[in-house]
Amino acid sequence: MSDNNARRPLDASTLMVHGGVLRSQFGELSEALYLTQGFVYANAEAAEARFKGEEPGFIYSRFSNPTISMFESRMCLLEGAEAARATATGMAAVTASLLAVLRHGDHVVAGRALFGSCLWVIEEFLPKMGVSYTLVDGRDLDQWQKAVRPNTKVLFLETPTNPTLDLVDLRAVADIAHDAGAILIVDNVFATPIYQKPLQLGADVVVYSATKHIDGQGRCLGGVILASEQFIADNVHNFLRQTGPAMSPFNAWVLLKGLETLSLRVERQTTSAARLADAVAGHPALARLIYPGRADHPQYDIARKQMSAGSSLIALELKGGKAGAFACANALEVVKISNNLGDAKSLITHPSTTTHQRLKPEQQLELGITQGMLRLSIGLEHPDDLIDDITRGLDAALAVIEGREAAE
Ligand SMILES: *Cc1c(COP(=O)(O)O)cnc(C)c1O
Repeated sequence: MSDNNARRPLDASTLMVHGGVLRSQFGELSEALYLTQGFVYANAEAAEARFKGEEPGFIYSRFSNPTISMFESRMCLLEGAEAARATATGMAAVTASLLAVLRHGDHVVAGRALFGSCLWVIEEFLPKMGVSYTLVDGRDLDQWQKAVRPNTKVLFLETPTNPTLDLVDLRAVADIAHDAGAILIVDNVFATPIYQKPLQLGADVVVYSATKHIDGQGRCLGGVILASEQFIADNVHNFLRQTGPAMSPFNAWVLLKGLETLSLRVERQTTSAARLADAVAGHPALARLIYPGRADHPQYDIARKQMSAGSSLIALELKGGKAGAFACANALEVVKISNNLGDAKSLITHPSTTTHQRLKPEQQLELGITQGMLRLSIGLEHPDDLIDDITRGLDAALAVIEGREAAE
């Protein structure tokens, strides 16, 4: 076949509808839900062959199930990864990807601005396993470089970060990791697999909370680890198989259906987020609006280099501290107060008193989390309704800030 006849590869949005399907003998249209713990074998020899890995097939749903396999295959197609393993939650994916490679005496370098539970795993849990850590300002490449030691095995980060939407230069940190003989694990939840491909930028492992955009409808928890075939085989497969933080087949089925509409949802959420950010940016109640898709983001050059759009999240910093932030959140009628994100419903949260309340005030400030900060996750509502709603919130905050309304 000449190059002229070479077929253009299918777009990811097409693959998310058809990819990874294991169709049964019944020819069902929708992916089948195999709600079964285990499988039966034609005879004892077949069971023996399957356990020895001499014959392909499913054995036990703690580590192999057709519905979960379909979800893993579809995620591989989306991410451009060789292999994937699904987990019960995003935190199971983060924890397993770390524990699978770390040994007593190893060292981890991580960006300081992390999802609260990821920070707990690194600061509180890993040291109990004899693994030391250094936290750095992820924006500062010099800090990454200086933190690396001979026993550093893993560099871990998220970008954009939660909730301040700081960015980390993935290519540069991957190079620092590899020069040091370490690997880079990226928690890619905020960017989503639609807008940022860490494996293409040099990362070794990508993890997701599928609870967020991949389900995107607030129904179930899930996580996934994506990496090379060899990394999964050498480090992850047995760890998950033997320790058991498995995804439920039911959740895998829900998440497969989530992947069918992922690009549609995330694109709508992101165009709405960009519109809303531009519409409210100059509001007098705002000290700052942080959105990686806007040219006034302090790291806009990095956003343009590694993200194909600004994501569905916006950080708002209200004047008037906590009183201003609470007045804004409480005045909203469409946007709901919730700590989830990536959902069909637009959600707002006050990180300082919820997701990051475990941190002392000075630790919060070090991360850029002020009392006036709100994290806004844009959903699927009409963007004009969201602009009206957020404007209503900001107007209410302004009344408090200017002392026209008593703070609650
Ligand atoms: C939600 C989230 C997690 C944890 O995922 P769960 O599914 O809630 O366990 C990890 N990292 C980031 C960035 C998240 O947003």
